[in-house]
Amino acid sequence: MQDQYGREIRDLRISLTDRCNLRCVYCMPEEMVFKPREELLTDDEILTVVRAAAELGVRKIRLTGGEPTVRPNLTDLVRRVAAVPGIQDLAMTTNGIRLAALAQPLADAGLRRVNVSLDSLDAEKFRKITRWGNLQDVLDGLEAVQAAGMLPIKLNAVVVRGFNENDVVPLARLTLTHDWAVRFIEMMPFGSVAGFQQSAYVPSAETMAKIADALGPLHALDVTGHDPARTYRVDGAPGTLGFISSVSQPFCAQCGRLRLTAEGKLRLCLLRDDEADLRTPLRGGATYEEIRERFRAAAYRKPWGHGLARNVVPKQRVMSQIGG
Ligand code: SAM
Repeated sequence: MQDQYGREIRDLRISLTDRCNLRCVYCMPEEMVFKPREELLTDDEILTVVRAAAELGVRKIRLTGGEPTVRPNLTDLVRRVAAVPGIQDLAMTTNGIRLAALAQPLADAGLRRVNVSLDSLDAEKFRKITRWGNLQDVLDGLEAVQAAGMLPIKLNAVVVRGFNENDVVPLARLTLTHDWAVRFIEMMPFGSVAGFQQSAYVPSAETMAKIADALGPLHALDVTGHDPARTYRVDGAPGTLGFISSVSQPFCAQCGRLRLTAEGKLRLCLLRDDEADLRTPLRGGATYEEIRERFRAAAYRKPWGHGLARNVVPKQRVMSQIGG
C-alpha cells in the first residue's frame, strides 16, 4: 500500500487508551479529561482494523497510548494481534510502570519488543517531569523486560529545558554498560500544551554536544531500515545512542506510518489534524471490505509532512490522545 507520494505504508501505531497512570508535563495537562470507555474501540474493532491493515501491507504494529498497559485484557489482545496473518513485528511503547508484572505475560503472548519512556535517572526529577511517577517501578520493569528476553530494549527520553536537559549524560552513560538503544527525542508542540512545549524545546544538536563533551566523540552508525532515529555509538559502548529530531531535522520523506487513535480515528501524520473516522463505519454496519477500502483511501491521502517550520501546530489533540 502506497500513499499519494509513493511512500510505502508499513507501520501502524495503535493507541489502546487515552488514559495514563502518569501525567508527563510535555504530554498532557494535569487536569486531563479522558474519553468515556464506550467511545474507545473494542478489542474486536481493533482486530478488524489490524486484519485490514495487514491485508493492505502493514507489517509492523506498535501498541501505545495513553498508557497501553492500563488497558484491561491487554495480554489477550496482544495474543490476538500477534496472530493476525502478515503481522511480522509487534512492539509496544510504554512508561514501564507496570512492566515488572506484565513483561513476561506480554512476551508469552507474542510481544516482541518494548520501548520504555524514561526521561531521567534521578528519582526526584523523574517525579517532577511525570508529576508523580516512581522511578524504581520503571527500573524494576526494565529488569523484567530483560529477563523476558524482549530485546533490544529501547529507552526514549524527551528532552525538556528546565526539567531534564542535564540528565541526558547519565542516560547516555547507560549505553556504556548495557546493550540498549538510548534515544533522545525533540519535544514537539501539540494543542493546549504547545506554548510550554515550544518554550522548553531543546534541539538535538545541543543534546549531542553535551553528551560528546562528557563521553567523547559520537560515531555515526549506518543503520538500515526506517528508524526515525539517527544512530551513534561512543567508543567501547555496547549500546547505541539515537536522536529523533522531528523538529530540527524532519524525516517525513521516509515516513510510512499511520496512527489509530483509541477512539478509532486514523491519523495520517502525527503533527497534522487530518484524520479518517473508522469507528463510525465499524459501528454503522459497514462490511469488512468497506472498512479495508476506507483504510486504503485514507492512507493514500497521507500528507507529505508536517508544517512546524511554518508554525503549523496540530490543535485538536495532545500527544496522549494520539498515541506517540
Ligand atoms: N505512555 C506511553 C509512554 O510513556 O511511552 C506511551 C504513550 S507516550 C504518548 C509515547 C511517547 O511519546 C513517549 O516516549 C513520550 O515521551 C512521547 N511524547 C509525549 N509527548 C511528546 C512531545 N510533546 N514531544 C515528543 N515526544 C512526546
